[in-house]
Amino acid sequence: MRRPILAGNWKMNKTRDEAIHFVLGVDYKLPKNGVDCIICAPAIILRDIVKRADILQVGAQNMNENDKGAYTGEISPIMLKDTGVKYVIIGHSERRQYYNETDSIVNAKIKKALEYDLKPIVCVGEDLSERESKLTNNVLERQITKAFEGVEFDDPENVVVAYEPIWAIGTGKTASSEQAEAACKYIREKLAGLYGKDVADRVRILYGGSMKPDNVAELVAQPDVDGGLVGGASLNEESFIAMSKAFKGE
Ligand code: 13P
Repeated sequence: MRRPILAGNWKMNKTRDEAIHFVLGVDYKLPKNGVDCIICAPAIILRDIVKRADILQVGAQNMNENDKGAYTGEISPIMLKDTGVKYVIIGHSERRQYYNETDSIVNAKIKKALEYDLKPIVCVGEDLSERESKLTNNVLERQITKAFEGVEFDDPENVVVAYEPIWAIGTGKTASSEQAEAACKYIREKLAGLYGKDVADRVRILYGGSMKPDNVAELVAQPDVDGGLVGGASLNEESFIAMSKAFKGE
């Protein structure tokens, strides 16, 4: 049994006060078991959230692939560990698109995160023209193969993959549950090819892209969709709580 995940990606939103207000208002209302609830917040407020979160777990949105050094403006894995976060999003499409994060940088970041016992949430997904050209599986195969090249891990629960079709992010156009299931199943097959079926069956694979309280239950009811990585709808306290109740066990 894979323990589902509801992960909020706040992106570049919320001040420290707003974040603290959210955590104090939401944390005690979340299910105590049955789902891992995570907030991935801006780096500058991670420590403030970790200190106040009890049920909520905390993640970063990015991390540099080096331990330390002359990389102005970057955040190292050592600094993230120091905040107390457990997760880090790696290779979000916005970072691939706006900050030129390549498959090989994504690969280096995953290795570095695991070296520091940070659980990577590895994002993959096709854009609209790739979907329309029926290249979704080709893109996923390339991204998964390159992301995990030479990556070793002991516990499959420490690795999370998020299928985030770019055309569904921030657009209000959610993938259908069939589309989400087909892509997540394909990703699991690729992981099985790399690590064997037993390992692939224990890796959590999330869907992300315009997920909200209205559609979360149907999406996470799919056999290979183990939860969601949610942007916009994770910013609102009521909607985050509502989404957390959509998981079995509550
Ligand atoms: P939205 O939920 O706002 O579409 O964003 C999804 C996302 O990019 C999460 O990482």
